[in-house]
Amino acid sequence: MCGEAKARILQKHTGRALCSKCFRDDLLKRFKDEVLRYSMFTPGERVLLALSGGKDSYVLLDLVKEVHDVGKIGIVTIVEGVEGYNRVDDIAWIEDAARSYGLDLHLTSFKEFAGLSLDELVSLDKSREVGTSPCTYCGVLRRRIINYYARTLGYDKVLTAHNLDDEVQTYVMNLLRGDKGRLVQNHPLSPTLSKYFVKRVKPLRKIYEWETTAYALMRGYKFQVTECPYIRFRPTLRAIIRDHLYEIERLKPGSLIRILETVDRYIETELLRWVSQLSELPQCSMCGSPTAYGRNTCVMCDLLGKIGISTRLLF
Ligand SMILES: [Zn+2]
Ligand SMILES: [Zn+2]
Repeated sequence: MCGEAKARILQKHTGRALCSKCFRDDLLKRFKDEVLRYSMFTPGERVLLALSGGKDSYVLLDLVKEVHDVGKIGIVTIVEGVEGYNRVDDIAWIEDAARSYGLDLHLTSFKEFAGLSLDELVSLDKSREVGTSPCTYCGVLRRRIINYYARTLGYDKVLTAHNLDDEVQTYVMNLLRGDKGRLVQNHPLSPTLSKYFVKRVKPLRKIYEWETTAYALMRGYKFQVTECPYIRFRPTLRAIIRDHLYEIERLKPGSLIRILETVDRYIETELLRWVSQLSELPQCSMCGSPTAYGRNTCVMCDLLGKIGISTRLLF
């Protein structure tokens, strides 16, 4: 692009060789374009970044603070509580960044929010022979805690660090399931369907995972080598879809972007009007959180109820 510096990155989907600076300019531009295209957040809004501590979190914070008033950026980070999965280092850089840029940091844990760590939830599940996957507890609790902080602290938007690979996998999963409601939920313009939900947006959704990795490395991010010991419980459908998508991308670079944009357009023309006519979601009779149409209780109350945990105050 610049014709000057030595190229360090070969971007297969564009056929370009880029130096570090041009690569950064390119990511920043694609991030900004996506934020503007869907008005993901606007200058006056308070945004809450849900950061796990991984490389994508690092990239999200790095790009958001370039374009947004740092006085309006908050961070929520949740420690799940998994033995042998040391999150101290993951969180150390978040604490440093929050301090040096003057961002509000909300650090919490499953233990603090629900009274039990993920390990304790899993062992209770085992002793009662319930058979819920650790990833299910984790996903449901994380979503609830993030929304709790955003809602009670008055943030306008929640920003998550999902990348292009994550988003295309999710679209394909929901297409395979034929789940129109969930398909449309992953579009940046889908409504929240409840006044208790804070809108979640994903500003990195057009950036490949290999690009977030390369960018994080270039900017000096130190990778953690440990992975979650519960990884073997992860849903297998997503892993299968991921492998097939990588094979397609290898044969035809740019495929992931084209899939995402095609499904986006389909949702914009065919589904957004339908979803905007849906009524407000009902509230859970136990905790008060919004829940799916036709349900009396929410997924979290059902899950925690099965292992004997009171959810009365968890909304
Ligand atoms: Zn250059
Ligand atoms: Zn509930």
